[in-house]
Amino acid sequence: MVPETHWPYTPSATRYEGVAYRPCGKSGIRLPTISLGLWQNFGGVDSLENARQMLRQAFDLGINHFDLANNYGPPYGSAESTFGQLFQQDLKPFRDELFISSKAGYDMWPGPYGDGGSRKYLIASIDQSLKRTGLEYFDLFYSHRFDPETPLEETMGALDFIVRSGRALYVGISSYSPEQTREAASILRDRGTPCLIHQPRYSLFDRRPEEGLLDTLEAEGIGSIVFSPLAQGLLTNKYLQGVPEGSRAARPEQVHLRPKDVTESRVRQIQRLNALAEQRGQSLAQMALAWVLRRPCVTSALIGASRPEQIAECVRSLDSSPFTESELRSIDEILSSE
Ligand code: NDP
Repeated sequence: MVPETHWPYTPSATRYEGVAYRPCGKSGIRLPTISLGLWQNFGGVDSLENARQMLRQAFDLGINHFDLANNYGPPYGSAESTFGQLFQQDLKPFRDELFISSKAGYDMWPGPYGDGGSRKYLIASIDQSLKRTGLEYFDLFYSHRFDPETPLEETMGALDFIVRSGRALYVGISSYSPEQTREAASILRDRGTPCLIHQPRYSLFDRRPEEGLLDTLEAEGIGSIVFSPLAQGLLTNKYLQGVPEGSRAARPEQVHLRPKDVTESRVRQIQRLNALAEQRGQSLAQMALAWVLRRPCVTSALIGASRPEQIAECVRSLDSSPFTESELRSIDEILSSE
């Protein structure tokens, strides 16, 4: 039961002065330059009150885009349930100010219809996600990954149906290669449901989207929202001396960031990047976000957080000055060093 003192939530009157909003490709939608993802720290095992404070902090700062997926938790589905509960209690009056996404594509339930890109899976999954969140529709629904075992026509046909049936307003794709993206975009265009956005992983420590994907998105008029722009927290000041207690890498249940990923050479790079950020008068997290957002085709940086203050710090990255050529060269040199 939520303490009564937490109601009613009145968002900050100045919330639209916090972040900037960029056009999402060639669409009418603008997204905040910083968005909040609920992959971690919003599960059934996490504190509901902390989750509430993070959502409130985000919305108070103008972050009106929240990103979910069917299997965020743990357990699977519980981040959507948490969001649904907090939406009902805090955010429901502001539904039309919010842009809420979910996805299906990875492992969700047992058997042949709970994973991949089939029409059966995607439609059943969004119906479950709508129930868990209590939303009438999602603003955006993604194919979470390219499934080599399902014809792309079928996956894109399911996305088109999801829009036409009123379950979502827009559709997107995540982690598709440039070629898969072009093909998906063409199928969706032919069906009259354009691909709004692509969600790739992009950060100082993962520059693969620079190898053709960002150019493809620009050419196709598709927006991009880049996930893990802080490399799951590595690009912050918390790993300067290795793995600290309580950090994501230190949590035993983590499979996506482990202490062995925090190598000595990684820590040296983090320390050098941190020194450069200090010279620029900002934190490493702020510099890492400013760096992904330096490309105009990046619509939004999709961060995660474990505490409300982290969100506030990330939003302050937007005050930063543009990178000089010499700073960009120093960054390239640090990233290529061992
Ligand atoms: P980030 O790279 O932003 O990492 C977030 C983590 O960094 C936080 O949990 C926190 O870690 C740390 N952090 C954040 N801000 C600060 C700060 N100011 N100071 C210090 N530490 C900070 O993103 P995520 O990896 O969490 O991914 C973000 C979102 O991207 C997900 O929620 C999800 O929506 C989406 N995503 C999509 C995927 C896809 O396949 N499409 C895959 C993965 C993510 P700590 O817990 O240590 O405090």
